[in-house]
Amino acid sequence: MSRIPLSVPHLAGNEEAYLAECVTTNFVSSVGPLVGRFESAFADFVDAPHAVACSSGTAALHVALRLAGAGPDKLVATSTFTFIASANAARYTGADLLLVDSEPATWNLDTERLYDEVRRRAAAGERIPDVVEVVHVLGHPARIEPMLALRDEFGIAIVEDAAESLGAVYRTGPAAGRQAGTIGDFGCFSFNGNKVMTTGNGGMIVTSSAESADRARHLTTQAKLAGREYAHDDIGYNYRLTNLAAALGLAQLEQLPGFLERKRAIAERYARELRKIPLEHAPHEPWAEPSFWLSSVLLGPGHDRDAVLDALDAKGVEARPLWCPIHLQEPYRSTERIGAEVAEDLYARGLSLPSSVGLSDEDQERVITVLAGILSS
Ligand SMILES: *Cc1c(COP(=O)(O)O)cnc(C)c1O
Repeated sequence: MSRIPLSVPHLAGNEEAYLAECVTTNFVSSVGPLVGRFESAFADFVDAPHAVACSSGTAALHVALRLAGAGPDKLVATSTFTFIASANAARYTGADLLLVDSEPATWNLDTERLYDEVRRRAAAGERIPDVVEVVHVLGHPARIEPMLALRDEFGIAIVEDAAESLGAVYRTGPAAGRQAGTIGDFGCFSFNGNKVMTTGNGGMIVTSSAESADRARHLTTQAKLAGREYAHDDIGYNYRLTNLAAALGLAQLEQLPGFLERKRAIAERYARELRKIPLEHAPHEPWAEPSFWLSSVLLGPGHDRDAVLDALDAKGVEARPLWCPIHLQEPYRSTERIGAEVAEDLYARGLSLPSSVGLSDEDQERVITVLAGILSS
């Protein structure tokens, strides 16, 4: 009986051909024609004016946050219910963090609560965030109106951590028809091995500002000035994507619509076939179309999450807990925060089920049967 993994790459297109092109042309590092091609194809797909390829999603966030104004003595508000890279990238800039609890409806940063808190603080003359880093957690778009209000009323920049939400769309409201990651001043994507699509390791910054895109490209290439000299006008980073990774990215992007369709079908099938079992499924608000990156569920009362994970593991099914909130992680224990109850409940009761694009119908059937058996015993 083979193990069913949580989320693994699906390399079924032109990956090999484009990689061979890199080898034949001798362009394997960050100089090479495929990087630019990948950037413009990606910008087209998400419908953003500019895209800058980076060596990882974390690198993309670091640079975007810095360009959005995060730095020493600045404050970045973000979700406590997220992968640790969201918090780390903000701290790399030297900024302080304000961790915000999730809202039950989307599991995302409670933007209405943050909005009320910022208004209260502003009225009381207290410190307010300079940047809000909004994570579209597990691929469901975050509520956008309060963030736009924060930007309009207080000049707070918006950086979207869209690492998990490639392909997610707002259906109605002020961002109707637009993809998550293209609303804020910057949007950042990840192409790590378990994400919606992969370049092995990689990321992308999108922005509507040509100047910001130029700055991002400059900072990700060691802030080196054009010309023969090794002359640099800033402290930059070695964060540029390689031509090899861009080859994978181009091939994956060609398959992305199919990947998204498959992710959605997997999530819908879990919801349909597990509906007789007392489980809560991941949010799907009528105003949003998620990426369905991972199919996640919350266990009902009386079930121990770790015991369920162990029982799945014993049957060859790889499931994982949801994100352990940032404020419970060692380096962030004393970080300032607003609430935590929702995030802690999601962590206590949540798990993600196998959601690979290549998951076969038979394997998904096995996951469903095994999970139903565990939860009814
Ligand atoms: C994966 C992820 C990142 C980091 O992306 P990498 O490409 O792994 O550096 C950042 N934020 C969130 C929410 C993620 O899930």
